[in-house]
Amino acid sequence: MQGDIEKVLITQEQIAARVKEMAARIVADHGGTDGELAEVTIVPILTGAMIFAADLTRHIPFAMKIGLLTVSSYPGSSLRTQGAQLLGSQLGDVRGRHVVILDDILDSGGTLRLITPIVKELGAESVRTAVLLRKDRPEARSTHVDYWGFEIPDEFVVGYGLDYNNYYRNLPYIGTLTPEAIARGRE
Ligand code: 5GP
Ligand code: MG
Ligand code: MG
Repeated sequence: MQGDIEKVLITQEQIAARVKEMAARIVADHGGTDGELAEVTIVPILTGAMIFAADLTRHIPFAMKIGLLTVSSYPGSSLRTQGAQLLGSQLGDVRGRHVVILDDILDSGGTLRLITPIVKELGAESVRTAVLLRKDRPEARSTHVDYWGFEIPDEFVVGYGLDYNNYYRNLPYIGTLTPEAIARGRE
């Protein structure tokens, strides 16, 4: 698996430090450092945001609920978005709650543009969005996101929850794949 990585873009240590900083901002914005605590539901977008959510939520010390949404936009061995599609929901009741949607990466913006209005329509009091990575491309920069961790070049990346053909999610860092690994995934 490690031999399939062409270049490490973000190390495990860099991710850990940044996730902690993002959590501190989310805590502050929801009354965690002063003022009245908000009723928060964290909503990871599966499957990619699973690892990010596990690490981020453990830096948030107040009571929260976790709701899940499954969206697919890069099915199988696609390297470009095929359009975001909501495949499943275990969101729970979000009426009156302060929702923070988590995604692994902001690319075309299709996922956040699909999910944010749905959560608002279900009666959330506020909806904020957080992504670990934002690709350096106009569509990503023009999509509103409240918290983002790292800006990366417009390349296909894997690791820390991000997959190719559902592999590589357990890599502890973010990297690009070798052409050989990409070709093998297409077979
Ligand atoms: P968007 O909807 O903003 O185009 O893309 C968001 C989703 O597409 C992410 O949640 C992720 O599942 C997938 N995605 C976008 N870029 C990449 C990438 O470089 N690598 C991988 N593995 N998935 C990506
Ligand atoms: Mg995703
Ligand atoms: Mg994927």
